[in-house]
Order: sequence, then C-alpha cells, then structure tokens
Amino acid sequence: MPKKIVTRFSPSPTGFLHVGGLRTALYNYLFAQRNKGQFLLRIEDTDQSRRVEGAVENIIETLEAFGLKPDNKKPVVQSERLKTYRQYAEQLIKDGQAYYCFCTPQRLEQLRQGQQTKKLPPRYDGRCRDYSSDEVEKNLATNQPRVIRFKTPKTGQTTFADAVRGAVSFDHQTLDDQIILKSDGYPTYHLASVIDDHEMDISHVIRGEEWLPSTPKHLLLYAAFGWPPPQYAHLPLLLNPDRSKLSKRQGDVAVEDYLKKGYLPEALLNFILLLGWNPGTEQEIFSLKEMVQVFKLEQVNKAGAVFDTKKLDWLNGHYIRQKSPAELTSLCQPYFTAAGITADKKFLEKVVATEQQRIRTLAEIVEATRFFFEQPKYEAELLIWKRMTGREAMANLKRLADELQTIEEKKWTADYLEQHIQAFIQASGARVGEMLWPMRAALSGRPASPGPFEIAGVLGKKETLKRIEHAMQLLDGHN
Ligand code: GLU
Repeated sequence: MPKKIVTRFSPSPTGFLHVGGLRTALYNYLFAQRNKGQFLLRIEDTDQSRRVEGAVENIIETLEAFGLKPDNKKPVVQSERLKTYRQYAEQLIKDGQAYYCFCTPQRLEQLRQGQQTKKLPPRYDGRCRDYSSDEVEKNLATNQPRVIRFKTPKTGQTTFADAVRGAVSFDHQTLDDQIILKSDGYPTYHLASVIDDHEMDISHVIRGEEWLPSTPKHLLLYAAFGWPPPQYAHLPLLLNPDRSKLSKRQGDVAVEDYLKKGYLPEALLNFILLLGWNPGTEQEIFSLKEMVQVFKLEQVNKAGAVFDTKKLDWLNGHYIRQKSPAELTSLCQPYFTAAGITADKKFLEKVVATEQQRIRTLAEIVEATRFFFEQPKYEAELLIWKRMTGREAMANLKRLADELQTIEEKKWTADYLEQHIQAFIQASGARVGEMLWPMRAALSGRPASPGPFEIAGVLGKKETLKRIEHAMQLLDGHN
C-alpha cells in the first residue's frame, strides 16, 4: 500500500506570519488535501530567546482566517518534547554516531577567529570527536558544560531527489559536526525537526529554499537513526521586483499587514498560490476549493517568484467586486469606524456601492468616499469646466438647482435624475460638460469621482441642493 500523504507546517513563533510562511502552509495544505492526506501543524520553539509572546495564537488564527485548518487539533509543540530529543541524542552517542563536546565558548571563538584570518570557512575542528571514554566520563562526572555534536562523515556526498529541484548533492566535507543538543538541554532545529518528522509520519517536507542546505544534515540524521527519509520539496525564493530577496525594507512581509490594509484573505491566498506555482493554463482566479483540485507539486517552479503587488491589487479588486454590497459594507465598516466616520447602515451601503468597481483595497474606501459624509472643501476653480467662465458655471448651477428643486423626493434616484436632467440639458441647448462638470464638482469637491447622478442619488435631494448652493456661494466670492 502506498504511504499515506502527511505534510506539516512548522513555523517558529518568532513574530507574525511571513507571506513566505503562508505560501509554505498553503502548498502543504493543498498537497495533503489533494492526496486525501493530512496537514499537521508543529510549533518549532526550541530557540526560546527568539520566542515572541502571542505568536503561536497569531499563527493559528491567521491560518484559520485563510481556511487552512490543520488536521491536528492541538499542534505538536517542540518545547514540550525536550525529553524525547535528549533520549534520541543520547541514543546516537551510544551508537557512536554523535559525541559530547566540552569545548568552551572562548575556545570556539578563538577557533573561529583563526579560521577567519586564514579565510577558511568557520568549522568545528573535531577536537572532542575522538576523546576516549575515560576522558568523557571524567568530564561528565565533574558536570562540565557540554553539547552533543553529530559525527558528520568526513568524506563522500549526500544526494537526494528534490521534488522541485531534481537531484541535489552536497559534499560532506562542506558540512560541520553540527550541534544537535545545546548546552541548555534544548535540541537544535536539525535534530528536533528530523525526530518530529519521523514520529509524525511526515511523508513530504515542503518548505522554503532557504532550508535546502539543511537537508543533507537531516538526511545524515535519518541514516544514523536508520529511518526512511521523507520526500523533500524546496519552494523557490520570494523576490522583490528588483529580484533581490523579499525583504521588509521594500514593503510589507507580514501577512497581518496585508490584511490590515484591506486585502481580502481569498485574494491574498490566490496571489500567494501563483508565487512559484502555475497551472499551465491561462486561469488566474482560484478559490481554495479549486486550488485543491488542481495543485500539483510537479508544477512548482524552480525560479524565484517576484512579489508583484500590482497583481495583488488586481486580484483584490476582482474579489472586492464579487461581494454583495451588504458584505462589502460590513468588510469596510472597521475602516470607517477607525476614520471616525459613523453613518446609518443603509446610507453606508449606498456609499460603498459607488466605489465597488474602483477600490483595490478595503482601506481605500475611506478616502474614496469621505466627501459623502461631510461638505468637501475645495477651490472655486474646480467648478469651472475647461474654457467656461466662473459666471457661466454659476449660471449653470443655478439652472440645475432650479430644475432639481422640481423633482419629488420619492423619485430621487440616480437613474431618474440621469434621465430627467439629461433631457433637461438637451432641451436647454447647453453643453453637457458645462452643466455636469460643475454639478459633479459641487457634489464631490474632487477632480475625479463617480458621476453626478450617482452621487446625488446617494446624497438625497436636500444635501444635493445644499452643496450646489455652497458652490454658488464660492463662485460668487470668486467672480
Ligand atoms: N521552523 C522552520 C521555519 O521557521 C521550519 C523549517 C522546516 O520546514 O523544516 O521555517
């Protein structure tokens, strides 16, 4: 029977979830789901100095917000498994695959400096590797501080078939006698990761390319324990548009920051999906369900993937347009509240609808629609269309105001206004731009905005006339 597919997402809780981490989680989730396997969460918190309060909860909540629910209800937490790692490390010592190292930090520092001056790569020189058992016993008996190091073979190579990169080889010569258990009794990442992947029955390790150099160390550990290794797949690097490694300096990297700015989870996930994977078709829009149906590990690219926020904006706009006005309004509500804008829900829904086709992020809604909630400030010049004079603008606004005055409130909708006012303009022989530009500017206070009827429809008769009146006063002072 083929082995059951089990993948894992194993972040270190050192801060908020990185977009690269979200991609790793997504691909692991998709691969497991597609193969009717399991997707497990593990918290790699063995470096206690880098622990950040609340990070674990944040990771779990973020995964859930994206619909990437792990199959284990409670994650495997490495700091709760210290005894297990120690036992395995001691087992390796018994088997002659690892050794106690009593070298002091000062000695290691001297060694490093010496290697630096000789331009050699920093490497442990193996001094404790061949201690006699007597020497070891003596040091243990006097409780000398110690670590456990792995006996890396000095010659040969480790070669493996990566599902993304194909055959990859590392010379053992380039590898250090890695520490597997630190002096504080905590395992290093390498040891804990291998033991957990084995005990959790992980069939596929799918992770970022930055972990590729760790893989030979992991494979040597598997061999030392006599365990069959998992299949590895290393995902391509995420790059800035200038092809440097994606970094905070050039933009946001925390998933949270994107959510805060009003990117929808489904848009962000769709965007992340396409960073390093493509379906081989023209399709660009994928729901999570569709992703599960089509995702194949063989379609992951080797080449670095550029994090192009323009594409993200485009996708987000697409998903924003799919929402019902009521849904979109609820999503925008926190942004209005944060900006101190309070309004009746029905009114808010009408306001949001005017921008649904245009906004790229939820956060943009506030600035795009602010003029609906208060009389906008602007200069009289804004009311004057092209070569017309201030007086003409004023006269046109007056004609419009008189006409609008005649429209009953119960007929006051964008459609009706459009029909009625367009007919009025035509009959009057005036130029459309010279009538509608001043009206639109009077209502929005902006050089660009939704059309005058749409705005007037939302503002209502009273406020529309009030704003036109205000515009005429401005022009009066100006003329
Ligand atoms: N804890 C590592 C990280 O933070 C996981 C590396 C791995 O997947 O083996 O990305």
